[in-house]
Amino acid sequence: MSLSTMTANPIPLPSRRSQKQQKMPCAEWRGFVEMYRLAAKNFSDALEALPCTPGAEFNQVWQRAERARKSLDEARTALLWHEHDHDCTNRGEAFEA
Ligand SMILES: [Zn+2]
Repeated sequence: MSLSTMTANPIPLPSRRSQKQQKMPCAEWRGFVEMYRLAAKNFSDALEALPCTPGAEFNQVWQRAERARKSLDEARTALLWHEHDHDCTNRGEAFEA
């Protein structure tokens, strides 16, 4: 992942108005949520396939689960960073969690 794609912000921030209104999460945010959901499912699927006996198959599925776990973590981080940088949701406290 290059730095330029991380910092590029094609969507202009909304002008600050005094009126309080529900922010609409942007399409990008919804995409990150979808990625997070998908990554969680992949991780869950891998764990379910984990055999209860050690061996080559266990190791193979374990590696798959490890990759899925990292993807899940990355998807979560990407979502939180987007919320932090883009400020397109009302979940102001989310990044602290
Ligand atoms: Zn956004």
